[in-house]
Amino acid sequence: MPLNPRPKPGKWSRPEIILILGSILAVSAILTIVTSLLFRERDSARDFAARSASNIVQLIDADVLRNTELYDTSLQGMITSWQRPEVQALSVQMRHLVLFDRSTAAPYKGDLVLLDKRGNILADSLDVTPRNLNLSDRAHFQAHRDDPNLGLVISDPFKLHTGYRDWCISFSRRMSSPTGEFLGVASGAMRLVYFEELFKTLTIGRDSNVNLINTRGFLLARQPVSGDSQNFIGHDFSQQPNFKRFLNEASGSFTSISSIDNKERLYTFSRVGHLPLVVVVGQSVEEVYGVWRRNAVLVGLATSVLCFGILWLTFLLCRELRLRQRAEHELAELASTDGLTGMANRRKLDHVLKTEWARGLRSGKPMSLLMIDVDHFKAFNDRHGHHGGDEALRTVAQTILGSIRRPGDLAARYGGEEFSVVLPETPLAGAQLIAEKIREAIEALAPFADDPNPITVSIGIASQEPNSRDDVCELVTIADKALYQAKRKGRNRVEYTVTESPRQALPL
Ligand code: GH3
Ligand code: MG
Ligand code: MG
Repeated sequence: MPLNPRPKPGKWSRPEIILILGSILAVSAILTIVTSLLFRERDSARDFAARSASNIVQLIDADVLRNTELYDTSLQGMITSWQRPEVQALSVQMRHLVLFDRSTAAPYKGDLVLLDKRGNILADSLDVTPRNLNLSDRAHFQAHRDDPNLGLVISDPFKLHTGYRDWCISFSRRMSSPTGEFLGVASGAMRLVYFEELFKTLTIGRDSNVNLINTRGFLLARQPVSGDSQNFIGHDFSQQPNFKRFLNEASGSFTSISSIDNKERLYTFSRVGHLPLVVVVGQSVEEVYGVWRRNAVLVGLATSVLCFGILWLTFLLCRELRLRQRAEHELAELASTDGLTGMANRRKLDHVLKTEWARGLRSGKPMSLLMIDVDHFKAFNDRHGHHGGDEALRTVAQTILGSIRRPGDLAARYGGEEFSVVLPETPLAGAQLIAEKIREAIEALAPFADDPNPITVSIGIASQEPNSRDDVCELVTIADKALYQAKRKGRNRVEYTVTESPRQALPL
């Protein structure tokens, strides 16, 4: 019977399970924390970019509003001045000076004109003598003529046919009589290159752009101007999904694909006050998340190395634990094994006796002990030498081990040529059967080296229900006494000493 069964291969021990679970928990915690931190960093990078873009949008908003107000003030001033009788009474040169102050000469301002109700130019900032032109076909003229309540109208972008010949927009206001009758229109052109110059002063990052679009979807200004982008001024974007979002949401930011170059951008946009204009900053997503991506790769690599290291260390520790457990197990087995016979030794016997006695105390079932002594072994040794004696002891031990079957039974070498068998939960009758079986099996062994005297044993049995009055040593003493009796009665026999329940004994 194996003394300490080896731990089954592949079965995890408790410390190994704790170690593995701890490592998995630590790795999961590290991965969760790092992942959530990286996601937060990513959101922060986006928020930071959106905030910077929003500041630029606000700056442009304020500038566009201020310029528009300047134009509006000029137009309203022109109308008011024109309608004053004392201005009408002035000479043509003086009237030109009053109507168009020095501000009209600013480099980005186009010409300012005052039209009568038929569209003919009444006053012209370009010359004291108005050009002989009729502008009644212009959309803004017709709009003011048909609707008295339009206020300031900002036109779609158009190209000047004279002067700078570049892209412009016009601001216009209706001139009405005190009774509301249409008298004409005051309008002023603004060169869109103004906004491009303004946008150039802003730092927006690589592959990013700033745009001014009117609410009808026409692009008014865009920076940077590179390659074909110049051609997009005046382009109609009204059918693009991104533009529809700018229009619907008034202000905010979102990530989308550009319809111009198919690159992904973070768009931050805002409507300019109550004007029909929208400022849009489009930042390259690669630029927005560039630093974050580099950091994420580094952190990801470092985390992977750390987690891999933890798992590798766990593997090494588990292997060491297993080796140590195996060594401890082998040591424990050695410590409880008899070197000569390979069966349990005295130490193990004492331990099992105590344990079974305690178990018997709880269960109330009797336990038995056999003390086995080889007969005339001194003489045997003398005939066959110590080596032969050892050989015979090994054979006796194997025979005893072969005669017990129950997993709880224990056969041990008590010392010298004496052996013991512990039979838990076995009454005297059962013990007698086993003792007799052992005795007969040894007697039936083949003669050792043609020795005419067979090897025989005498067996003493003690059987008792464990109780708190006695000690397990009592059981050993009783078995010893029975063994002494067997010797005295002639050897090669089984004797017992009854201490409790003598009716259990079978007649021998
Ligand atoms: P009895 O029938 O009364 O038991 O006689 P006996 O000769 O067996 O008893 P005794 O106690 O006088 O002698 C025991 C002998 O067992 C003494 C020793 O030579 C022998 N012996 C004890 N241990 C060992 C051992 O490990 N190896 C060998 N070869 N002999 C042993
Ligand atoms: Mg002896
Ligand atoms: Mg003996």
